[in-house]
Amino acid sequence: MRFLVILILSFILYLVVRLLIGFSYLSSQRRKRQEQLGGEMVKDPICDTYVPKSRAIEKNVNGQTIYFCSQECIDAFFKKRRAI
Ligand SMILES: [Zn+2]
Repeated sequence: MRFLVILILSFILYLVVRLLIGFSYLSSQRRKRQEQLGGEMVKDPICDTYVPKSRAIEKNVNGQTIYFCSQECIDAFFKKRRAI
């Protein structure tokens, strides 16, 4: 009888472990996919911040695409260019 209880308990433990391994594998896969989707990072030349390309603001300057994190940085960029 005791043997049976141990057997059932170890079987349940086995199921729980399998579930946990499967879950962590799935979430790591999801994280990897997320990195691939919005993963490419671009650098804001004004504040030196890296922003995901999907969230950055694109500006075409003399045929060159420059990415900014916010409108304030765009303003600062053009103000700086005008000063030169
Ligand atoms: Zn910025």
